[in-house]
Amino acid sequence: MVDIIQNGNPILREVAHPVSLEECGSSRIKKVISDMREALASQSDGVAIAAPQIAQSLRIFLVSGKVLKEANPELYKDLPDEIVFINPEITKLSKETQILEEGCLSVRWLYGKVKRSKKASIRAYDVTGKKFERGASGLLAQIFQHEVDHLNGVLFIDKAFDIEEVLPEHIEARTKNKKKLSE
Ligand code: ZN
Repeated sequence: MVDIIQNGNPILREVAHPVSLEECGSSRIKKVISDMREALASQSDGVAIAAPQIAQSLRIFLVSGKVLKEANPELYKDLPDEIVFINPEITKLSKETQILEEGCLSVRWLYGKVKRSKKASIRAYDVTGKKFERGASGLLAQIFQHEVDHLNGVLFIDKAFDIEEVLPEHIEARTKNKKKLSE
């Protein structure tokens, strides 16, 4: 069982270390990624996770394409079930913003509204060390911004307003079965 560390743990406030290119496919990095996968899968509302959230100060995050496809089949039908981003850099952010609700696997059980760019592009390396670039809108663009913040020691509560606590047993009733997702 891999623990997800919580707000207050100083690791979440560190600027995470880049992964060297030679290390991308190493057993150490593969283990970190499989631990991230396990931690994310242990949370029914999890859609993405960054390495610092499992106490690894490394510039890696993982997105569940599977959960995104369930959330919005139309928009995300072409996504793979999982996408790993190593040393991600946001290359473009739209000027146009939107206010979206966010939650975080490391800030239980707070939710708040955050102003994010509607569209974002990101450049990163995959597990084989190959560079790729991906553009996104909607929830995936929000995830890019939330996860890169994690790698820079920033939590959504630093930027959010209308923060409220919604305990898991109340989520379903409050949102009329519309699932809240956490990152
Ligand atoms: Zn988070």
